[in-house]
Amino acid sequence: MADLGEGSARGLPGVRPDLEALVGYHSAQVDVDVRLNTNESPLPPPDGWLDALADAVRGIEFNRYPEREATGLRRALAGSHGVGIDEVFCANGSNEVLQCLLLAYGGPGRTAALFEPTYTLHRHIARITGTTVVAGARRDDFALDLDVVAAVVAGSDPAVTFLCSPNNPSGRADTPAEVERVAGLVPGLLVVDEAYGQFAPSSALALRRGDPAGTRHVVVVRTFSKTWSMAGARLGYLVADPDVVAACELVALPYHLDAAKQAAGRLALDFVDEMEHRVAAITEERGRIAAAFADLAVETWPSDANFLLFRPLAKPATQVWTDLLAASVLVRDCSTWPGLTGCLRVTVGLPEENDRFLAALTESLR
Ligand code: PMP
Repeated sequence: MADLGEGSARGLPGVRPDLEALVGYHSAQVDVDVRLNTNESPLPPPDGWLDALADAVRGIEFNRYPEREATGLRRALAGSHGVGIDEVFCANGSNEVLQCLLLAYGGPGRTAALFEPTYTLHRHIARITGTTVVAGARRDDFALDLDVVAAVVAGSDPAVTFLCSPNNPSGRADTPAEVERVAGLVPGLLVVDEAYGQFAPSSALALRRGDPAGTRHVVVVRTFSKTWSMAGARLGYLVADPDVVAACELVALPYHLDAAKQAAGRLALDFVDEMEHRVAAITEERGRIAAAFADLAVETWPSDANFLLFRPLAKPATQVWTDLLAASVLVRDCSTWPGLTGCLRVTVGLPEENDRFLAALTESLR
């Protein structure tokens, strides 16, 4: 790890002092047989998409900058959600979408509110952008506590409030009534991160549709990384009021979306049935893992996403994580995250990967 402190003998300046605490934040990429730690899709995108993309890539003028407005991609996304093209902003993964939102609406002197446990990058990106973070706790079953939400929001006047639904790492989706209540409480933007949205029974997109005037501040963030099986393409987007889109365009770097990525996203939308088929297959496998958990000494929670949170009861989580790694199965160790003492998170993989995970877990807990 590079020295980020006072600077080296060659006289490098130290980085911003407020960034020093962020060293070592990201999880390591480990070479194992079964990777179930980052909630990717275990299934590749369809061959038809790959063929169409290869044709499109051949037609790209790579000597030219890409189309800055990403019109084709945004029009296709707008069409798929029944919104205007001016309500869609795209970026390099939903993480960059979140970063643009925080660059535009957060920053020094402003506050972002979130409710933990939740997606750790909300806090992380807020801090990188110099935004103050205030956090409230979710209940023990990971549901929102609306009294806590009201108190946090009233006490901190957040410019941005984050929800994550389905929530990573609990898997729990906030109900439409809960999201609507929070939308009524917050003074600034309400950003609903729906990275796993296609697994969920509801979406904040419906809230926006139902009350356009009253929900101008509601932003829905989605990604191609999970259900679209395109984590390697790094593409995410938001659906929001045109003024929010314009604000994000202010802070995004020019030409940040390369031409191949724009084509990849646009063409993916021609394969909705295949995507829904993958979601159904993963949901079925998730049910199989959850059923197997019932026979093991673990506590677990219902999930509306492509992963399951669980707490080994017979052995420390870190020991179980190490046992799984020894069996070449990598899961996420969440045991030091706020509100998640003793918890691990497993991404739903291919049936044979899930079998390997369950066998290794059974062995570890024996
Ligand atoms: N939001 C949530 C809730 C996530 O879990 C993830 C990925 N783990 C992301 C956003 C970021 O996804 P990406 O940048 O790949 O779109």
